[in-house]
Amino acid sequence: MTDSKLIITIDGPAGSGKTTIAKLLADKLKIAYLDTGAMYRSIALFFLDENEIDEERLKNILDNISYTLVFDGETYQLALNNKILGSEIRSEKVGLLASTISKIPIVRKYLTEFQRDIAKRHSIVAEGRDMGTVVFPYAKYKFYLTAKPEVRAKRRWLQLKELGVEADLNEILEDLKKRDEQDTTREIAPLKPAEDAHIIDTSNLTLEKILTEMISVINKND
Ligand code: C5P
Repeated sequence: MTDSKLIITIDGPAGSGKTTIAKLLADKLKIAYLDTGAMYRSIALFFLDENEIDEERLKNILDNISYTLVFDGETYQLALNNKILGSEIRSEKVGLLASTISKIPIVRKYLTEFQRDIAKRHSIVAEGRDMGTVVFPYAKYKFYLTAKPEVRAKRRWLQLKELGVEADLNEILEDLKKRDEQDTTREIAPLKPAEDAHIIDTSNLTLEKILTEMISVINKND
């Protein structure tokens, strides 16, 4: 590591509670939160209405984008070319396409670089699938959150409901399973816990319990 920024990684499947917990932990530690799934989703958005991923167009997009964390007075928000990413990236359709696009080597190469670049400028809680295994193997603290598929589907359904999006629970469960399958079996940077990650099954835990466990791991190793 070339500087003294703090890096905490949280990996895990969709609906494991990563996003909520990563935000809470970052707030508590007064550092930034980096949602790397939002980066993959933002690339997917470019191809939402297309039948295939044109390699040249993809390369061109990757060459012409940059990501920054923008402080809005309260929290850090992820911005693509200075535009904050909002609810447009949150649908299951975008999530599934992001999962497909995330298998493409050049996408992972570019996004890994963008993520490391952000970590040079900010202390972060970085959330994703390969944070502890590939992008930040030297992170000071690593967590892996998991939960039963049915519990994760229900959480995702509630999240979408809160955003005003009506969705079918069974469809969400099927999409999650498909995404799990794609994310865990891909050749590059598959979803799995880092050997030195602290694994937490969140199926029956409240947010407070999860956060308390994480803070105790951090305090113990400080
Ligand atoms: O976390 P989220 O559900 O927003 O991520 C969307 C998709 O982006 C995931 O299903 C996964 O395929 C991909 N992703 C990834 N590596 C990351 C973060 C997300 O491959 N670090």
